[in-house]
Amino acid sequence: MRRGIAVSSNLCTFCHDFDEGLDHVFFSCGYVSLLWKWHVEWSGILPEQPFSSLDLEMMLNQVNIEKKTQNLKLSLIYCTIWMIWKARNTCVFRNERRPSMAIVGDISMLTFNWIKNRSKFNALN
Ligand SMILES: [Zn+2]
Repeated sequence: MRRGIAVSSNLCTFCHDFDEGLDHVFFSCGYVSLLWKWHVEWSGILPEQPFSSLDLEMMLNQVNIEKKTQNLKLSLIYCTIWMIWKARNTCVFRNERRPSMAIVGDISMLTFNWIKNRSKFNALN
């Protein structure tokens, strides 16, 4: 029973190895760790992989993000969290699990669309 709803398991939807806590699902699960490694290696926003929401908050407070690119970089982070949540729900409700690296493409495309349609960078192509 979780939040008044009968559930068959409290194990992580992605890996089935650990309890499905927020920090595990969003940061430390092997399924999502590739996404955070991508942020460290490709986007360069984060100095290292966060393993909890507290890690992420501390890193974002410590890194010096230029004002000029702040919206873009923070959008990439927020979009990553959003796409992890969507992937988790797709697993739970449709029993479909996509390769985590396929989500990287979704993150890039969604962030591009967010920036293009919601900021002064709307001249992006
Ligand atoms: Zn997991």
